[in-house]
Order: sequence, then structure tokens, then C-alpha cells
Amino acid sequence: MKMSKLFVQTMRDNPSDAEVISHKLLVRAGYIKKLTSGVYTFMPLMWRVLKKVENIIREEMDAAGAQELLMPFVQPKELWEESGRWNAYGGELMRLKDRHGREMCLGPTHEEIITSVVRDIIKSYKQLPINLYQIQSKFRDERRPRFGLLRGREFIMKDAYSFSTSQEGLDKEYQNMWQAYTKIFNRCGLPTKVVQSDSGAIGGNVSHEFMVITDTDAGENDVFYCDSCDYSANSNHAVSILPEAIVDGGYDKAEIIDTPDVHSIDELSAFLKCAPSVICKALVYIVDKAPVIALIRGDKQVEETKLLNAVGGVDIRIATSAEIAELMKQNGYDAIPGFIGPKGADGKYLTKYDEYKVKIVADKTVADLKNFVIGINQTDKHLVGANWGVDVDLPSVVEDLRLVEAGELCPQCHKPLKVTRGIEVGNIFQLGTKYSKPMNGVYLDAEGKAQPYIMGCYGIGVTRTAAAAVEAHHDDWGIKWPLAIAPYHAIVVPVSTKDETQMSVANKIYEDLQNAGIEAVIDDRDERPGVKFKDADLIGFPYRITVGKTVAEGNVEFVERATGEKSVLKPQEAVQKVIDAVNELKK
Ligand code: ATP
Ligand code: MG
Repeated sequence: MKMSKLFVQTMRDNPSDAEVISHKLLVRAGYIKKLTSGVYTFMPLMWRVLKKVENIIREEMDAAGAQELLMPFVQPKELWEESGRWNAYGGELMRLKDRHGREMCLGPTHEEIITSVVRDIIKSYKQLPINLYQIQSKFRDERRPRFGLLRGREFIMKDAYSFSTSQEGLDKEYQNMWQAYTKIFNRCGLPTKVVQSDSGAIGGNVSHEFMVITDTDAGENDVFYCDSCDYSANSNHAVSILPEAIVDGGYDKAEIIDTPDVHSIDELSAFLKCAPSVICKALVYIVDKAPVIALIRGDKQVEETKLLNAVGGVDIRIATSAEIAELMKQNGYDAIPGFIGPKGADGKYLTKYDEYKVKIVADKTVADLKNFVIGINQTDKHLVGANWGVDVDLPSVVEDLRLVEAGELCPQCHKPLKVTRGIEVGNIFQLGTKYSKPMNGVYLDAEGKAQPYIMGCYGIGVTRTAAAAVEAHHDDWGIKWPLAIAPYHAIVVPVSTKDETQMSVANKIYEDLQNAGIEAVIDDRDERPGVKFKDADLIGFPYRITVGKTVAEGNVEFVERATGEKSVLKPQEAVQKVIDAVNELKK
């Protein structure tokens, strides 16, 4: 490819809406062009990268025994009603109607479609197990599309679905996919950390995420891990053992006392001269539309996904002060935030909010509290010296709702946990019968009895993987693509296009590279060398062969983008170095 012909425009400035480096660099280097929020055109350079990522995925999925197909992007509502997800999926599902008024959606994922395809064909245990996958665009109307390709609305995903006759069969396929994923990300030049995770809206029990570890904002997940053993988990799933804390407030009787103008746990503990850990904090959340009061020890935070799982629901957010005021009013109180509790000074519990019942749940940390401090829905007052079963009932739902913090102890080996940020590039889920049961996806076992398929699903964000590679491999000048997914392997840069010797040597190198099957670009533009080098570094060609004045002595400059290492070589040696590196990839 001649640089003068390549359909690319590089830019000097970062786009104004870009917060993270991959977004900035992919726009500036001409890889992607925004159409509308979270929707991008993949320009020729980007498309070459994405095809390489896709092909690595294909090769490894095929090698692992999966078969590729392609399902429709537009899906009918009826299938989503069968699984129960038409209502459960929430705002990310892009719903639309055809000209006959039939409701449809744009595929955010394909569990329903694959189950409907397989149930019509696989009727016997003899046809199982099977694993089917596709590589396709997905659409999710994300609440916050951002970070360029890392969280788009339209994006490319590889999604695979396995069907087995037993849990053991599923376990085996899960391991098989785990290994395939490890190979895929390694081949893409992206080391990943595998972490335990919550299975969220997709359902099921066991799931793991493949994380690219980064210390930047681009990592939307907090990953807790242990250096002393192999424990690592997404914050939505992480658990820890707490160091010893004061859990007895030491009050000798329960009484209501004045706590004027204290609005936070810190202010309350300072005022009462008690440890924050002897305060039972009550937080008001709205889950879908219903209010939930979560009780947790004063020194700890609630993890929203854990709370959502404890009460069941799709959407969770902290209540606004207006909603808290309304909740108070409807239950006959007028306390302001900071003084809320499950039970009022009058002995009544919070019960209603519009047509919804108030749910009260507790984190495990509060169960141990004795003679503790708690709000009683009265501004400027608290109950101190409270005990469960005497002054307040411990809620019937007591679960782990707590957000783990670094320094708490590993649940496996009791050493302090550490935290880092991660970009989730892929995940594997054990779905079990979550889709096969409601959708009647069954086969006949050896005894002729109908049994639901035991399913697994396995996703990889193709576009997100490419962007994560940029997050992991770049410097101030631009992208440093891993060779396996670079749009081209090498660029040949004649310093002066007017110099005939330089041009003829450069052309010869370019031809030799191409004849050897190397994907090369020659920068034939009549530009200053500085401009050419800047573009080459920004776009991120793994190897640059510069043909300048030293060509008179039969030398060229060879630059490796990843390391910045420069060497003076004969043209043929430079060509051979690129060929060797590309051949190394094939091993
Ligand atoms: P996330 O928690 O990041 O929203 P998810 O749990 O919704 O991801 P899945 O539904 O399992 O992810 O999708 C499989 C893969 O698709 C993810 O691991 C990720 O790599 C990719 N992916 C998901 N949502 C997006 C998005 N909005 N933009 C780009 N890639 C995405
Ligand atoms: Mg998501």
C-alpha cells in the first residue's frame, strides 16, 4: 500500500470528547470516525486490525471444536418473552417496530436466538455436546457510551454458546473455552488476568472475566487479587475477611439521644465518640421502582450489584433526597438523610412507598453488632445501645452486600488483598438451564426422557479487545501495535522522494517485503521526514525501515516501534528481520 493512497487522515489534536488514550489515539491516527454517540465507522486501518483479531478468535475457536454460524441482528419480541428478558433486560435493549407494528429488538446478545435454533434440530443426547459461535455487530443502548471502542453502543462481539447433557459436560466445555481464551488473548499480545465475576442479567452461577489490567480510567472494573494465592475477583463478586473491629458500642442501656446537625457517619462517630463500626448505617436505594433499605456497618460501603442480587431486580440506584423525603412522608416521618433507620422512634417499620413495599435487607457485618447506634427516622436524634431482637429486628435477608476494600484479607489464604483496574475483554458463563427451561430447549436422554440442555455462553469484545491493546501498548507518540494485530507489519520511509537512489532502494525493499508475504506500506508522500516519522509512530507500524542519506554506504535504518530500538542494517538484513518476526507469529 502506498501511503499516498491509503484512506487515512491523521490529526494533530485529540478529539474533545475523548477521555482515555485508546479513544484519543484511534481517532487521531485515523482508525475510527464517530457517526453518533457510541457508533463508529471502522476506517480501513481499523478494519484490518479487527479482521486480525477476528481471525485469531476464529482459529482458536475452531481448534477448540466450536462451529461458526451467523444469526440475525434483528430479533422478534416473542423469543424474548419466552425467556422472560423482554421486560427484564432494561434500557440497554433497543426496541423497535416493523411496518406491521410487530415489536423487535436489535440483538444485544443471542441466547434466545441460539436456543430457538438448536431446540428445533438437537433432539437427542447423541447430538450433544455442541458449541456454536458467531462474530457479529451487537447493539446496546448503553447508559453511558464512552471511551471510544471500549464502551460503544454498536460494537463487534464474538459470542459462543455450548449445549451439554450434564454439569460435568458443561464444566469440561467451560475449561475448554477458558484455555481457548487464554490462547486468543496471548496471541493478540494482551496478557489477561482471569477473575471471578457476578453473572448479572445474563443469569447462571459460575462466571469468569478476562481482564486486561490497567492503572488508568479506561479500566471500568475494580479487580481484587491476592499476591500470595490465585484469588482474584471483580468487585461485584469479591469477598474478604475483615480485620478485627469494635462491634460492641458499650452502652449500658438503649436510649434516644440528641445528635444535632450530624449528617455523615464520620460526624456522628466524632459527636458520639464511638467507632464508626458500631453504627448501623441505613442506605436507601431504588431497585427498579421499589425502595430498598440496606443496613451495613458504618465503616463499610454497599456493593450495588450484590444488593441487586440480594433483592432481585434489573436496575439499581441510590435514592435521591426528594425520594427519601417522600418515603418519610408516606410513612409518617419527616427525617432528613443522616437520620434514617428501618424503624421509627414510634416503633413502626418503614413499609410503603407508592404502590411498592419497602424491602429491608442487611449486610452480614451488622448481624454481629451489639449496643449499636442506629437512626430512628427523627432528625437530630439517634438510638444508642440498640440490640437486635430487643430494640430492632434483624431483617430476614442477611447477605454479603459489602464492597471489598484493599487491605482486607483474602478469603482463601487470609493475606491482605490488593486492588487494580481492569478492562473486561471477554467472559465465560455457566448458564445451566436458565434459557433452555423457559424456552423448552430439550433433548431426549438415553432413557428417552426429555431433559433441558445444560448451557454455557462465552463472549469476547472484538472492538474492545483492539482498543484494550492500544491502552496496553502506546507511548506519547502513538500506538505500538502488537505485531499479530497491527494493520500492517512494516513501513518503508524514503526520507526524500526526490532522491532517485533513495527511492529505488525503498521501492526494492517494499517489493521484497511484499513478495515475502509481508504487509507493508511505503511512504511515497512528498513530505518532510519529520511528518512521515510522526505519522508512522502515531499509526503504530511495528517496524520502520528508513532509507536516507546513508543509503550511499549501502545502509538503512531499522526501527522497532515497541522498544524504540534502532539499528543500521543492509536493506536485505532489514527485510529479513521483518520476515523472521512475522514467521515467529505463525509458530
Ligand atoms: P460490561 O460489564 O463491560 O458491560 P457485559 O458484562 O455486558 O460487559 P457481555 O454481555 O458478556 O458483557 O458481553 C461480552 C463481551 O462484549 C464483554 O466481555 C466485552 O468485551 C464486550 N462488550 C460488552 N459491552 C460492550 C460495549 N458496550 N462496547 C464494547 N464492547 C462491549
Ligand atoms: Mg454491559
